Amino acid sequence: MAIEAWKCVVKDCKGFIVFENADFDFNNIPILDGIYAFDDPSCTECGKQYKVVPHYTVITAEDEFEEATSTCITKFEKREIERSFENETVPYYKVQRFINMRGYSYSVDSVMNGYRAKKRGEYISYTMKDCVENLEKELKELVCDY
Ligand SMILES: [Zn+2]
Repeated sequence: MAIEAWKCVVKDCKGFIVFENADFDFNNIPILDGIYAFDDPSCTECGKQYKVVPHYTVITAEDEFEEATSTCITKFEKREIERSFENETVPYYKVQRFINMRGYSYSVDSVMNGYRAKKRGEYISYTMKDCVENLEKELKELVCDY
């Protein structure tokens, strides 16, 4: 099983076209919406429709046949982590997701302590500062600092 990720062609869209290429049978190519295509995935973010066509590229579903660019799956995975952070609304989980996204080993509690320390004008490390500055709104709520 191989998952492929291609970059969406829509300007400013950060989405990906993701599909599995394992079962493509070149002797029996399906016809999707009147053209030969193995799959018709859509962008993970803007929903734009694509076709995976037999000469092994990915095109938009309209007439323009614009080619998307293949990219590595880790870029897609990174973006999904970023998105889960952006879409998170619960302050506690948002802090947690930020820590994961940055690859830090802090606990949510320690970031809350970092926030309090910064408020008191104490020294905090560079990475802690990164958390505190990017999560100001959430931390304010978590430590009930209104
Ligand atoms: Zn898109």
